[in-house]
Amino acid sequence: MKCLNCGSEITNNLKIIEIFSLTPITPNYICNFCRQQLKPLINRDNCPRCFKPESGGICSDCQIWEKNYHKINCHQALFEYNQFIHSYFKLYKRYGDILLAKLFYQDIKSWSLKNHFDVVTYIPASPGHLKERGFDPVYELYADIFDLQNLLSKKDADKPQAQKNRLERMKTPQTFFAQPAINQLSKDQSILILDDIYTTGRTLMHAHDIFFERGFTNISTFSLSR
Ligand SMILES: [Zn+2]
Ligand SMILES: [Zn+2]
Repeated sequence: MKCLNCGSEITNNLKIIEIFSLTPITPNYICNFCRQQLKPLINRDNCPRCFKPESGGICSDCQIWEKNYHKINCHQALFEYNQFIHSYFKLYKRYGDILLAKLFYQDIKSWSLKNHFDVVTYIPASPGHLKERGFDPVYELYADIFDLQNLLSKKDADKPQAQKNRLERMKTPQTFFAQPAINQLSKDQSILILDDIYTTGRTLMHAHDIFFERGFTNISTFSLSR
């Protein structure tokens, strides 16, 4: 197997227990060299709400969310946003290398096996972006791992997120609307909303609101990077 990011051969050092195990081995699509450039977020004294690393308690952003908007974040993420993640998303999203959707398959899969939800949905691309790219990057990142439900739609934005400053992003009005399938769910079901990157939390907060306003109370969010 070759690394999807750099093309190097991946050496799988299987443990004896894995070779004789009857459970299927989760495929790995990233080599050790590329993996070493990642900064995992696990066990880093993260903010218990948004997973910001080395926060030493609830971070200032989450305190603002809670004080001003009475919203409690329940977010988890796998890797800190760094140069490697930046380059990865550039290749994957901007240059449309859809094969890269599987680069973190093993990591996301292993998270999915430890965290259970009744309903899993995702942040969809806006119609404009979908047409431009030809695929939905968040959907493709998770589609092989979770039983994804299409519950949200996104309006086309006036200005791309990347061109906005932090304050503009936090103040963006609601950009999502609900799909009719949302009405088939029961309010006590646990909901997980997936995104690719968590920056200010605004996008996931908007998606969260769609469920919250309809009476759902058990809502969590997840992103590959934070
Ligand atoms: Zn590699
Ligand atoms: Zn936080």
